[in-house]
Amino acid sequence: MTLAETPNQTNSRNPFLTLQYEPALESLGDDYYDEVAAAEFPQHILRWRNDSLLPRLGLNPQAVTDEDFINAFGKFQERKPLLALRYHGYQFGEYNSGLGDGRGFLYGQVRGIDGELYDFGTKGSGKTPYSRGGDGMLTLKGGVREVLAAEALQYLGVRTSRCLTMIETGLSLWRGDEPSPTRSSVMVRMSNSHIRFGTFERLHYLRRPDLSQKLLDHVIEQYYQHLITESDKYALFYAELVQRIAELVAQWMAAGFCHAVLNTDNMSITGESFDYGPYAFIPTYDPYFTAAYFDYYRRYCYSHQAGICKLNLDMLQEPLKAIIDKSDMEYGLASFDEYYRAEYRSLMLKKLGFDQLLAPELDELFPLTLEFLQDSQVGYHQFFSEMARTFAANWRDDPAFVLHDCEIVPATGASAIFDNWCILYHKTLNNFAPEQMDTIAQNLHRYNPKTALLRPVIESVWEPIAQSDNWQPFYELIDKIQSGN
Ligand code: AMP
Ligand code: MG
Repeated sequence: MTLAETPNQTNSRNPFLTLQYEPALESLGDDYYDEVAAAEFPQHILRWRNDSLLPRLGLNPQAVTDEDFINAFGKFQERKPLLALRYHGYQFGEYNSGLGDGRGFLYGQVRGIDGELYDFGTKGSGKTPYSRGGDGMLTLKGGVREVLAAEALQYLGVRTSRCLTMIETGLSLWRGDEPSPTRSSVMVRMSNSHIRFGTFERLHYLRRPDLSQKLLDHVIEQYYQHLITESDKYALFYAELVQRIAELVAQWMAAGFCHAVLNTDNMSITGESFDYGPYAFIPTYDPYFTAAYFDYYRRYCYSHQAGICKLNLDMLQEPLKAIIDKSDMEYGLASFDEYYRAEYRSLMLKKLGFDQLLAPELDELFPLTLEFLQDSQVGYHQFFSEMARTFAANWRDDPAFVLHDCEIVPATGASAIFDNWCILYHKTLNNFAPEQMDTIAQNLHRYNPKTALLRPVIESVWEPIAQSDNWQPFYELIDKIQSGN
């Protein structure tokens, strides 16, 4: 028997435990976190392993067993310290100084082969000093929903955190928004960072500009490295954060995604999208579509997302003003609308098949498309996937051919806006040479996946899990999302 086969050597061979963890946040000192212990669970059933992420960690998926996932992220063997991060935040406009990681912790930080630093952050791993009245747990359905959201957004081109793994943990949980008792899970998120706007808000609340300065230097060093040597790096950091967030919201909008809970504790300082709770993809283009049932005043509805994120950036100036000149930040924030509009327009034109923005018709096509989608209330995702499915080079020859044999036309019936849209699309195509029709067809397929993660689709994979522990539809859905089918 070789040494590697010795039974009690199992964990030293666990690839997750042999990764080179960097104490990046830990080394800032314990003003930013509390060391915690993970819950012990009665059961560990691996339900999801995201093999597509492993190469980025320098791991060969075939060399990582299901047991390795469970030992590392279900049993939390050997890894210390586990850090519950401290933060505050504005929740639905009200300041909450009682927040912090209440059901998760920073498991560790690892540098990917791309040179980026990644957090492994848990959700549903037990109580912490910030659990307040909560049980520290995540429902299995909550885990399933976050895995699906992250995969769908990733393949729609949104800058998002991912889920590395999700393990069922065998507890019965009680929730007001799920039939209860309901099953439990622990999910491990792989993201750029778990430092939030609310992390700085807490330090401001505690009147610790020294700690804010140290944290901001860390953020720039790790996530805005190209700014380190700039003399005005702090102002440039804020300006770039504005751009990243504006572009992120544009990506959500084009993807038809409503995050649902845009509190400042759910806003990452890296501009990455994360934390998917009651989110929803819009069924139709409805500016007031609201995903969270408890969002009574539609504060975080679909079309408010840009305004809310801009407001969150504005409020972030308060904690940062000890370090960054206020007028520089105001100047930076003034570019938000322009970044947002440019990115949204560009992404929507891609969904319409175009990557060149020269023709005057393209400027008219974007607003007219939104007008048509709102007026007709056809399926938002269906409209674009039907365009991709039925597009033909002869649409360039006659407006009557545009969308003529797709499934949405009977639903829309004859309407002046639809006719105008077809005429304008035909006219736009005529700005391109016949041989460019192939590129347009390819763009339509690339930017408009067939499968949309609408609520009934999520329910259709959840039901077999809940009723008969059948996970096949869930895995098939992820395959479809990942392959664009
Ligand atoms: P979220 O809505 O997931 O962004 O969570 C908001 C805050 O509530 C965070 O501080 C969470 O850690 C905390 N929280 C949410 N659910 C639970 C739970 N079941 N147990 C303890 N804390 C929770
Ligand atoms: Mg959160």
